[in-house]
Amino acid sequence: MSDSDPILRPEPLPEDDPAGGGEDIDRALRPQRLDEFIGQAEARANLRIFIASARQRGEAMDHTLFHGPPGLGKTTLAQIVARELGVGFRMTSGPVLARAGDLAAILTNLEARDVLFIDEIHRLNPAVEEVLYPALEDFELDLVIGEGPAARTVRIELQPFTLVGATTRMGLLTTPLRDRFGIPTRLQFYTVDELHEIVSRNARKLGAPAEDAGAREIARRARGTPRIAGRLLRRVVDFAIVEGDGVITRDLADNALSRLGVDHLGLDGADRRYLRLIAESYMGGPVGIETLSAALSESRDALEEVIEPFLLQQGLIQRTPRGRMLAHGAWSHLGLVPPQESARPQSDLFG
Ligand code: ADP
Repeated sequence: MSDSDPILRPEPLPEDDPAGGGEDIDRALRPQRLDEFIGQAEARANLRIFIASARQRGEAMDHTLFHGPPGLGKTTLAQIVARELGVGFRMTSGPVLARAGDLAAILTNLEARDVLFIDEIHRLNPAVEEVLYPALEDFELDLVIGEGPAARTVRIELQPFTLVGATTRMGLLTTPLRDRFGIPTRLQFYTVDELHEIVSRNARKLGAPAEDAGAREIARRARGTPRIAGRLLRRVVDFAIVEGDGVITRDLADNALSRLGVDHLGLDGADRRYLRLIAESYMGGPVGIETLSAALSESRDALEEVIEPFLLQQGLIQRTPRGRMLAHGAWSHLGLVPPQESARPQSDLFG
């Protein structure tokens, strides 16, 4: 197995993506209503109120921002918001909106109170972002037509709409954009109990019998992320069909997940490579993110968005002003002994 087996990563894969042929499975598993959505209790409770209030007023709901690591349900929640509001849903993403005209075309086609979902909103081109501000604030679009001295601005009135933005990197959002969201919501990693419920429900929907302990084993090793839980479940079902009698038992799940390179904490090869590098090459750190990125041949973004959030949440690493450091639990997880304080790099003593 490769160190960065893509089935263990929380970003979407073609099999999760409607265009990649995973549509039927994904649509069947994706929760459709707020009541079916497990976890994120605080976000759900708040959304329920904002949705009810918007419906009672007959107005567009306030603009909403979901932020948090990939695979936690930002897109799913955005779709649920539109469904619960009883309005249309349009979906696009920051990198796709290359020119101001691309956004203008979408905005002018929205119907009253529709939800527009922009994924990866931190990657909007600044020229497109400029167009978005008056649209969000006053439901107006200022378009420049023509060039040079003949250029003139045309103002277009838009239907009131709700922007739902999603980002894995809140820190990269410009302040003016961040300020325009009335409802910023942070999504958290899921607890094992919540993932257990999600895995059990999905196993039922897939028609794959799962013993309670089998579903729990998958939940414990899903990196706190429903998207990974869904994928691990599908792989374990494959093992159950081919090598077992179709039933997901604890032993079968344990065996399948170990063969997929997912350890007992849910870490995969890429996570362990990251931890081992800091342990073995930098005596536990601190080491700068750029150095790690070069040594692992992973982009800095991938480390910060995908690998680090779960390791931080598990208390396996710490982020310090001088770089990343291994926390105590990481040494024991790797089966290594931390170096004596005195043996640490000099910079550590004077920092
Ligand atoms: P994000 O937009 O944050 O990357 P998605 O909304 O695309 O995440 O969700 C990823 C996958 O996880 C989807 O297949 C979705 O069905 C599933 N999922 C997310 N949240 C939940 C949940 N609370 N309950 C059940 N499945 C979920």
